[in-house]
Amino acid sequence: MKILVAEDEPGSRRLVKMVLSAAGYEVVEAVDGQEAWEIFQREPFQLIVTDWMMPRLDGAGLIQNIRAIQKSYTYIIMLTAIDGKPKVVMGLEAGADEYLTKPFNRQELLARIASGKRILRLEEQLTEARQQVEVLAMHDGLTGLLNRRAIEEHAGAEFKMVARKERPMSVIMLDVDHFKNVNDQFGHAIGDQVLRQVAKVLQENSRGYDRVGRWGGEEFLLILPDTELRDAALVAERLRTQTAGTKIPLESGESISVQISLGVACTVNGFPSLAKLIEAADQSLYKAKQTGRNRVCIHESEP
Ligand SMILES: [Mg+2]
Repeated sequence: MKILVAEDEPGSRRLVKMVLSAAGYEVVEAVDGQEAWEIFQREPFQLIVTDWMMPRLDGAGLIQNIRAIQKSYTYIIMLTAIDGKPKVVMGLEAGADEYLTKPFNRQELLARIASGKRILRLEEQLTEARQQVEVLAMHDGLTGLLNRRAIEEHAGAEFKMVARKERPMSVIMLDVDHFKNVNDQFGHAIGDQVLRQVAKVLQENSRGYDRVGRWGGEEFLLILPDTELRDAALVAERLRTQTAGTKIPLESGESISVQISLGVACTVNGFPSLAKLIEAADQSLYKAKQTGRNRVCIHESEP
Protein backbone atom coordinates (compact mmCIF):
# COMPACT_ATOMS: atom_id res chain seq x y z
CA MET A 1 0.00 0.00 0.00
CA LYS A 2 1.23 3.47 -0.89
CA ILE A 3 1.42 6.31 1.61
CA LEU A 4 2.04 9.95 0.82
CA VAL A 5 4.21 11.70 3.40
CA ALA A 6 4.27 15.50 3.50
CA GLU A 7 6.89 16.91 5.86
CA ASP A 8 9.26 19.85 5.39
CA GLU A 9 11.86 18.82 7.99
CA PRO A 10 14.20 16.40 6.20
CA GLY A 11 15.10 14.51 9.39
CA SER A 12 11.52 13.90 10.41
CA ARG A 13 10.54 13.01 6.84
CA ARG A 14 13.36 10.49 6.62
CA LEU A 15 12.29 8.92 9.93
CA VAL A 16 8.65 8.56 8.87
CA LYS A 17 9.75 7.06 5.60
CA MET A 18 12.07 4.63 7.33
CA VAL A 19 9.42 3.39 9.77
CA LEU A 20 6.76 2.97 7.07
CA SER A 21 9.12 1.37 4.55
CA ALA A 22 10.36 -1.10 7.17
CA ALA A 23 6.70 -2.08 7.75
CA GLY A 24 6.28 -2.81 4.03
CA TYR A 25 4.60 0.39 2.85
CA GLU A 26 5.61 2.19 -0.30
CA VAL A 27 6.31 5.81 0.62
CA VAL A 28 6.07 8.82 -1.67
CA GLU A 29 7.70 11.92 -0.19
CA ALA A 30 6.65 15.54 -0.54
CA VAL A 31 8.79 18.39 0.84
CA ASP A 32 5.75 20.51 1.71
CA GLY A 33 1.96 20.70 1.44
CA GLN A 34 2.06 22.24 -2.01
CA GLU A 35 4.14 19.43 -3.44
CA ALA A 36 1.89 16.85 -1.71
CA TRP A 37 -1.16 18.56 -3.23
CA GLU A 38 0.38 18.45 -6.70
CA ILE A 39 1.24 14.76 -6.30
CA PHE A 40 -2.24 13.95 -4.98
CA GLN A 41 -3.94 15.64 -7.96
CA ARG A 42 -1.93 13.46 -10.33
CA GLU A 43 -2.44 10.29 -8.32
CA PRO A 44 -4.85 10.00 -5.38
CA PHE A 45 -3.63 8.27 -2.21
CA GLN A 46 -5.78 6.48 0.34
CA LEU A 47 -3.36 7.16 3.19
CA ILE A 48 -1.51 10.38 3.93
CA VAL A 49 0.77 11.41 6.77
CA THR A 50 1.22 15.18 6.86
CA ASP A 51 3.01 17.70 9.00
CA TRP A 52 1.10 20.77 10.14
CA MET A 53 3.64 23.58 9.81
CA MET A 54 5.01 23.68 6.29
CA PRO A 55 5.91 26.49 3.86
CA ARG A 56 3.71 27.31 0.84
CA LEU A 57 0.78 25.11 1.90
CA ASP A 58 0.35 23.89 5.47
CA GLY A 59 -1.24 20.64 6.65
CA ALA A 60 -4.70 22.13 7.17
CA GLY A 61 -4.69 23.66 3.69
CA LEU A 62 -3.57 20.38 2.17
CA ILE A 63 -6.37 18.49 3.94
CA GLN A 64 -9.00 21.00 2.88
CA ASN A 65 -7.90 20.73 -0.73
CA ILE A 66 -7.96 16.95 -0.63
CA ARG A 67 -11.35 16.75 1.07
CA ALA A 68 -12.79 18.98 -1.64
CA ILE A 69 -11.85 16.66 -4.50
CA GLN A 70 -11.46 13.14 -3.06
CA LYS A 71 -13.56 10.54 -4.83
CA SER A 72 -13.03 7.71 -2.38
CA TYR A 73 -12.01 8.32 1.21
CA THR A 74 -8.50 9.45 2.07
CA TYR A 75 -7.34 8.71 5.60
CA ILE A 76 -5.11 11.50 6.86
CA ILE A 77 -2.83 11.47 9.89
CA MET A 78 -1.52 14.84 11.01
CA LEU A 79 1.85 15.27 12.70
CA THR A 80 2.08 18.13 15.17
CA ALA A 81 4.65 19.57 17.57
CA ILE A 82 4.13 18.57 21.19
CA ASP A 83 3.14 22.08 22.28
CA GLY A 84 0.59 22.41 19.53
CA LYS A 85 -2.58 21.22 21.28
CA PRO A 86 -4.83 23.98 19.86
CA LYS A 87 -3.38 23.11 16.48
CA VAL A 88 -4.44 19.50 17.03
CA VAL A 89 -8.03 20.62 17.45
CA MET A 90 -7.71 22.85 14.41
CA GLY A 91 -6.16 20.00 12.48
CA LEU A 92 -9.01 17.66 13.32
CA GLU A 93 -11.46 20.42 12.49
CA ALA A 94 -9.72 20.86 9.16
CA GLY A 95 -10.54 17.24 8.46
CA ALA A 96 -7.60 15.14 9.72
CA ASP A 97 -8.64 11.69 10.90
CA GLU A 98 -5.90 11.28 13.47
CA TYR A 99 -2.93 13.14 14.85
CA LEU A 100 0.43 12.26 16.31
CA THR A 101 2.66 14.53 18.32
CA LYS A 102 6.30 14.89 17.38
CA PRO A 103 8.63 13.27 18.22
CA PHE A 104 6.36 10.34 17.49
CA ASN A 105 6.59 6.77 18.70
CA ARG A 106 7.09 4.45 15.72
CA GLN A 107 4.76 1.75 17.08
CA GLU A 108 2.08 4.38 17.54
CA LEU A 109 2.50 5.60 13.98
CA LEU A 110 2.11 2.05 12.66
CA ALA A 111 -0.93 1.45 14.87
CA ARG A 112 -2.58 4.62 13.55
CA ILE A 113 -1.85 3.55 9.99
CA ALA A 114 -3.33 0.11 10.73
CA SER A 115 -6.52 1.64 12.13
CA GLY A 116 -6.66 3.90 9.06
CA LYS A 117 -6.55 0.81 6.85
CA ARG A 118 -9.44 -0.71 8.81
CA ILE A 119 -11.50 2.44 8.31
CA LEU A 120 -10.70 2.45 4.59
CA ARG A 121 -11.76 -1.20 4.31
CA LEU A 122 -15.05 -0.45 6.07
CA GLU A 123 -15.56 2.51 3.81
CA GLU A 124 -15.05 0.29 0.75
CA GLN A 125 -17.51 -2.29 2.07
CA LEU A 126 -20.06 0.43 2.73
CA THR A 127 -19.66 1.79 -0.80
CA GLU A 128 -20.06 -1.70 -2.25
CA ALA A 129 -23.15 -2.36 -0.15
CA ARG A 130 -24.64 0.97 -1.19
CA GLN A 131 -24.02 0.18 -4.85
CA GLN A 132 -25.66 -3.23 -4.43
CA VAL A 133 -28.70 -1.63 -2.84
CA GLU A 134 -28.89 0.83 -5.73
CA VAL A 135 -28.70 -2.00 -8.27
CA LEU A 136 -31.40 -3.96 -6.43
CA ALA A 137 -33.63 -0.92 -6.15
CA MET A 138 -33.44 -0.31 -9.90
CA HIS A 139 -33.80 -3.83 -11.23
CA ASP A 140 -36.56 -6.37 -11.54
CA GLY A 141 -35.72 -9.41 -9.45
CA LEU A 142 -37.09 -11.97 -11.91
CA THR A 143 -35.69 -10.77 -15.23
CA GLY A 144 -32.79 -8.55 -14.18
CA LEU A 145 -34.18 -5.78 -16.41
CA LEU A 146 -34.79 -2.27 -15.14
CA ASN A 147 -37.92 -2.19 -13.02
CA ARG A 148 -40.85 0.07 -13.77
CA ARG A 149 -39.67 2.95 -11.64
CA ALA A 150 -36.15 2.85 -13.12
CA ILE A 151 -37.27 2.62 -16.76
CA GLU A 152 -39.76 5.41 -16.16
CA GLU A 153 -37.07 7.60 -14.65
CA HIS A 154 -34.71 6.83 -17.51
CA ALA A 155 -37.44 7.49 -20.06
CA GLY A 156 -38.25 10.82 -18.40
CA ALA A 157 -34.63 11.95 -18.59
CA GLU A 158 -34.32 10.83 -22.23
CA PHE A 159 -37.60 12.52 -23.15
CA LYS A 160 -36.27 15.86 -21.87
CA MET A 161 -32.92 15.39 -23.52
CA VAL A 162 -34.23 14.58 -27.00
CA ALA A 163 -36.66 17.49 -26.75
CA ARG A 164 -33.78 19.83 -25.99
CA LYS A 165 -31.66 18.43 -28.81
CA GLU A 166 -34.67 18.28 -31.14
CA ARG A 167 -33.98 14.63 -31.79
CA PRO A 168 -36.57 11.84 -32.06
CA MET A 169 -37.13 9.15 -29.46
CA SER A 170 -39.27 6.07 -29.81
CA VAL A 171 -40.83 3.72 -27.30
CA ILE A 172 -41.98 0.15 -27.73
CA MET A 173 -44.57 -1.34 -25.41
CA LEU A 174 -44.91 -5.09 -25.69
CA ASP A 175 -46.76 -7.90 -24.07
CA VAL A 176 -46.47 -11.72 -24.15
CA ASP A 177 -49.41 -13.22 -26.02
CA HIS A 178 -51.69 -15.60 -24.10
CA PHE A 179 -49.38 -15.51 -21.11
CA LYS A 180 -52.18 -16.55 -18.79
CA ASN A 181 -52.50 -19.81 -20.75
CA VAL A 182 -48.80 -20.54 -20.20
CA ASN A 183 -49.23 -20.15 -16.46
CA ASP A 184 -52.45 -22.19 -16.43
CA GLN A 185 -51.07 -24.98 -18.57
CA PHE A 186 -47.47 -25.28 -17.34
CA GLY A 187 -47.44 -23.56 -13.96
CA HIS A 188 -45.88 -20.36 -12.68
CA ALA A 189 -42.32 -21.67 -12.67
CA ILE A 190 -42.49 -22.10 -16.44
CA GLY A 191 -44.27 -18.77 -16.66
CA ASP A 192 -41.30 -17.17 -14.90
CA GLN A 193 -38.92 -18.94 -17.21
CA VAL A 194 -40.83 -17.57 -20.21
CA LEU A 195 -40.55 -14.03 -18.85
CA ARG A 196 -36.82 -14.46 -18.28
CA GLN A 197 -36.38 -15.81 -21.79
CA VAL A 198 -38.37 -12.96 -23.36
CA ALA A 199 -36.32 -10.49 -21.31
CA LYS A 200 -33.14 -12.09 -22.63
CA VAL A 201 -34.31 -11.82 -26.24
CA LEU A 202 -35.23 -8.16 -25.69
CA GLN A 203 -31.86 -7.38 -24.20
CA GLU A 204 -29.86 -9.28 -26.79
CA ASN A 205 -31.70 -7.68 -29.68
CA SER A 206 -31.77 -4.10 -28.48
CA ARG A 207 -28.94 -1.71 -29.19
CA GLY A 208 -26.37 -0.50 -26.70
CA TYR A 209 -28.07 2.81 -25.96
CA ASP A 210 -31.61 1.39 -25.83
CA ARG A 211 -33.08 0.63 -22.41
CA VAL A 212 -35.33 -2.29 -21.60
CA GLY A 213 -37.58 -2.46 -18.56
CA ARG A 214 -40.22 -4.71 -17.13
CA TRP A 215 -43.34 -2.57 -17.05
CA GLY A 216 -45.31 -5.06 -14.98
CA GLY A 217 -46.61 -8.64 -15.27
CA GLU A 218 -45.82 -9.79 -18.82
CA GLU A 219 -45.47 -6.24 -20.16
CA PHE A 220 -42.17 -4.67 -21.18
CA LEU A 221 -41.13 -1.19 -22.25
CA LEU A 222 -38.22 -0.24 -24.46
CA ILE A 223 -36.80 3.26 -24.77
CA LEU A 224 -35.02 3.98 -28.05
CA PRO A 225 -33.26 7.35 -28.04
CA ASP A 226 -32.38 9.03 -31.34
CA THR A 227 -34.70 6.68 -33.22
CA GLU A 228 -37.33 7.51 -35.84
CA LEU A 229 -40.64 5.68 -35.94
CA ARG A 230 -39.66 3.54 -38.97
CA ASP A 231 -36.42 2.37 -37.36
CA ALA A 232 -38.20 1.63 -34.10
CA ALA A 233 -40.73 -0.44 -36.06
CA LEU A 234 -37.84 -2.45 -37.52
CA VAL A 235 -36.43 -3.05 -34.05
CA ALA A 236 -39.88 -4.13 -32.87
CA GLU A 237 -40.25 -6.51 -35.79
CA ARG A 238 -36.86 -8.05 -35.02
CA LEU A 239 -37.87 -8.54 -31.39
CA ARG A 240 -41.10 -10.18 -32.52
CA THR A 241 -39.45 -12.71 -34.87
CA GLN A 242 -36.62 -13.47 -32.43
CA THR A 243 -39.05 -14.13 -29.60
CA ALA A 244 -41.30 -16.34 -31.72
CA GLY A 245 -38.25 -18.31 -32.87
CA THR A 246 -36.92 -18.95 -29.36
CA LYS A 247 -37.57 -22.34 -27.82
CA ILE A 248 -38.00 -22.52 -24.08
CA PRO A 249 -37.13 -26.00 -22.79
CA LEU A 250 -39.45 -27.72 -20.33
CA GLU A 251 -38.39 -30.30 -17.74
CA SER A 252 -40.28 -32.94 -19.71
CA GLY A 253 -37.76 -32.52 -22.49
CA GLU A 254 -40.27 -30.74 -24.70
CA SER A 255 -40.06 -27.06 -25.40
CA ILE A 256 -42.52 -24.23 -25.88
CA SER A 257 -42.34 -20.92 -27.60
CA VAL A 258 -44.29 -17.75 -27.07
CA GLN A 259 -45.15 -14.77 -29.19
CA ILE A 260 -45.33 -11.09 -28.41
CA SER A 261 -47.42 -8.14 -29.56
CA LEU A 262 -45.82 -4.73 -29.81
CA GLY A 263 -46.92 -1.11 -30.02
CA VAL A 264 -44.55 1.62 -31.22
CA ALA A 265 -44.76 5.40 -30.84
CA CYS A 266 -42.34 8.22 -31.57
CA THR A 267 -41.90 11.76 -30.26
CA VAL A 268 -41.86 13.21 -33.80
CA ASN A 269 -45.64 13.13 -33.70
CA GLY A 270 -45.44 15.87 -31.08
CA PHE A 271 -46.38 14.26 -27.80
CA PRO A 272 -46.55 16.84 -25.01
CA SER A 273 -45.41 14.42 -22.32
CA LEU A 274 -43.78 11.07 -21.76
CA ALA A 275 -47.04 9.75 -20.34
CA LYS A 276 -48.85 10.60 -23.61
CA LEU A 277 -46.10 8.93 -25.65
CA ILE A 278 -46.28 5.74 -23.59
CA GLU A 279 -50.06 5.85 -23.76
CA ALA A 280 -49.86 5.98 -27.57
CA ALA A 281 -47.53 2.96 -27.64
CA ASP A 282 -49.95 1.20 -25.31
CA GLN A 283 -52.88 1.97 -27.64
CA SER A 284 -50.92 0.54 -30.56
CA LEU A 285 -50.14 -2.55 -28.52
CA TYR A 286 -53.87 -2.88 -27.85
CA LYS A 287 -54.51 -2.63 -31.58
CA ALA A 288 -51.92 -5.36 -32.24
CA LYS A 289 -53.78 -7.55 -29.76
CA GLN A 290 -57.14 -6.77 -31.34
CA THR A 291 -55.96 -7.52 -34.85
CA GLY A 292 -54.59 -10.98 -34.17
CA ARG A 293 -51.54 -10.72 -31.88
CA ASN A 294 -47.91 -11.65 -32.76
CA ARG A 295 -47.57 -8.38 -34.63
CA VAL A 296 -46.26 -4.83 -34.50
CA CYS A 297 -48.58 -1.83 -34.67
CA ILE A 298 -47.26 1.70 -34.95
CA HIS A 299 -48.85 4.92 -33.80
CA GLU A 300 -48.63 7.19 -36.84
CA SER A 301 -51.13 9.94 -36.18
CA GLU A 302 -50.88 13.04 -34.02
CA PRO A 303 -51.58 12.43 -30.32
MG1 LIG B 1 7.07 21.49 9.55
